[in-house]
Amino acid sequence: MTDCLFCRIVRGEIPTSIVKEDDELVAISDINPQAPLHALVIPRRHIATLNDLSAGDDALVGRMVRFAAGIAADKGYAERGYRTVLNCNRDAGQSVFHIHLHLLAGRALGWPPG
Ligand code: AMP
Ligand code: ZN
Repeated sequence: MTDCLFCRIVRGEIPTSIVKEDDELVAISDINPQAPLHALVIPRRHIATLNDLSAGDDALVGRMVRFAAGIAADKGYAERGYRTVLNCNRDAGQSVFHIHLHLLAGRALGWPPG
């Protein structure tokens, strides 16, 4: 998946603002932020959609969620609250087909989402 946008970002081929990274995950600032904190937690390995996850990815997905919680805590939003979102395919508005977890914080977020 050499031409996938997020594969290129995690390889460092496209400039981005890295929030946090480890051996499996990279969190970046969303280019079009929808809240004062809007980060994307991206696995280094290419997985197109949630439909492509297998049982072997369970630990990876859990790690993505805890990674986001760690960023929220680091930024001071743990108590106030934050939202995590995983969009899958057309009706959810997925626009980049490499899974990523949105982390949004810093304002009151409406529910239900649009
Ligand atoms: P989704 O609609 O769930 O697929 O989310 C894709 C997200 O990627 C959107 O919130 C975009 O603003 C964001 N995005 C697209 N291109 C970039 C980029 N080059 N750097 C950071 N975020 C991006
Ligand atoms: Zn990719």
